[in-house]
Amino acid sequence: MSHKLQVGEMRAAYLTDKEIWGHFNYIFSSKSKNSTTYKFVLIKSLLENLYNVNDKLELSYSSLFASFAKIYWNLVIHHNLNQINMTDKKAEVQNILLDVQSKYQIPNTLVFDKLSYELQVEIITKVKRKCKINVMGALYGDTSCTIYDFDNRNEQIRLNSTFYSFMQRYQKVLNYLTNYHLALFLEKFNEQGDTTHLLLKVENVSKRSSLDQFYQVLSSFYNGKCFYCGKAIKKDTAHVDHFIPWSFVQSDQLWNLVIACIVCNLSKSDKLASKIFLDTVIERNELLITLPELRRREDMQVYTSNKLKDLYHYSFENGFTDIWKPKKMIM
Ligand SMILES: [Zn+2]
Repeated sequence: MSHKLQVGEMRAAYLTDKEIWGHFNYIFSSKSKNSTTYKFVLIKSLLENLYNVNDKLELSYSSLFASFAKIYWNLVIHHNLNQINMTDKKAEVQNILLDVQSKYQIPNTLVFDKLSYELQVEIITKVKRKCKINVMGALYGDTSCTIYDFDNRNEQIRLNSTFYSFMQRYQKVLNYLTNYHLALFLEKFNEQGDTTHLLLKVENVSKRSSLDQFYQVLSSFYNGKCFYCGKAIKKDTAHVDHFIPWSFVQSDQLWNLVIACIVCNLSKSDKLASKIFLDTVIERNELLITLPELRRREDMQVYTSNKLKDLYHYSFENGFTDIWKPKKMIM
């Protein structure tokens, strides 16, 4: 029973695209045993963490399960959606979250990132402790033990390099596929809403309600000027913008965030900024890294300029070909 495994070693070094598509086909088919939404949410969490791996393609469970716990909190508590294929039972992760909710009397309206830091850590720790036992082995087994190594004791995963490259190249379509199948599953075992309605919820469960905490960190680095057009901006009209669009990265890393004016932020929307800005973000990030307190942050620890260049390249490859530039630039 692969889902009870504590350690799994990778059986293949090289996987063709066809083999990997085959694995995804199997996971999303009725042949794979999906009594809960675990596999879908694990794939979503892996996609969110693609750029949080180190140079050996290792990813810590603390990053992986921070996404996993956040997605589940928003599905279970915020949207009140059942995660198991039985109406009279609850998935383990649901029980954990509902217990925390009742212990601290947290209203359903609160999304994960609105909870206090301490509470987020408590939830992530509890979810990680329980879920890692079934979740890591299940996806590993469904993919014939080829896409990653995992170690539940050291709490680390290492991705197969061909699988990693596949995820980068097809990130956007994989995201669509996973969200769609997750919504299909939820539709069957929840009374509220059809797939379209659920898909909208699923697509947004990863999104933060506010990027204020990043503004606090970045505010001393932008000289009161918009990153893109250079216009002076007042504090209360400053927007935190995802340099590589959120709709592609689906996560918030300090090294991918800049401060922009409203006009630039809105007109850029989910377009990719012109390549001239890539060097400027890289320079800005070099500056961030010089500060020890920022260097210690989990997102900055795995940052390299090549990672950002890759991300830029792959967002273009994934169809973000509509390149944006501000109309007027003050230099
Ligand atoms: Zn601007």
